[in-house]
Amino acid sequence: MTEFEKKYYEKRGQILVKNLRSRHFDAYYCENSTSALSKALELIPEGSTVGWGGSLTAEQIGLIDAIRKGNYQALDRAACRTPEERTALFKKSLLADVFLTGANALSMDGEMVNIDGTGNRVAAIVYGPESVIVVAGMNKVADTLENAVTRARTIAAPMNKQRFPNQTPCEVTGSCADCKSPECICNQILITRNCRPAGRIKFILVGEELGL
Ligand code: SF4
Repeated sequence: MTEFEKKYYEKRGQILVKNLRSRHFDAYYCENSTSALSKALELIPEGSTVGWGGSLTAEQIGLIDAIRKGNYQALDRAACRTPEERTALFKKSLLADVFLTGANALSMDGEMVNIDGTGNRVAAIVYGPESVIVVAGMNKVADTLENAVTRARTIAAPMNKQRFPNQTPCEVTGSCADCKSPECICNQILITRNCRPAGRIKFILVGEELGL
């Protein structure tokens, strides 16, 4: 990444932190993955039960690995051997002390957009875990909420669908066709616009391109 890109992300990140805080979220700007990982671990008390939604960003900064290896009770979806185990883990994650997630998109005025197939991730963002930590690269930030929804629907979702083997229009063409497929991963679209209780949702914005 060039110095110009770093400066660009930092300037936008500082404004976004202010706007997120005005909505009662906690928010921090970290210039890279290393400092984002330290900040995230600062926010997770040792011994906590920690669950997560599928978050490539949390994986990329090393947070999922750190939880697996550290002094935490990891609710690890990768350790599930059957669909039943996975469902049970998703339900347990709704009662976790801490839930980790990425964001499909954010608007510059501090609203977050997430799309979900099963719904476990958006459910945990809405209610349940005492603390929710969102890690998001600054590439996820759009100028307006409308553009953030467009990003989530036309970029994040079709890219994300490439990770799963079942067919939807976007898996074939790379573009969203607003499908009603049984395999659709866009069953729930959540906009998170304010935080109650204050500080329950914490944003760590990273000055890098991360996630999808
Ligand atoms: S084609 Fe279907 S699964 Fe793919 S992004 Fe659009 S709504 Fe989602």
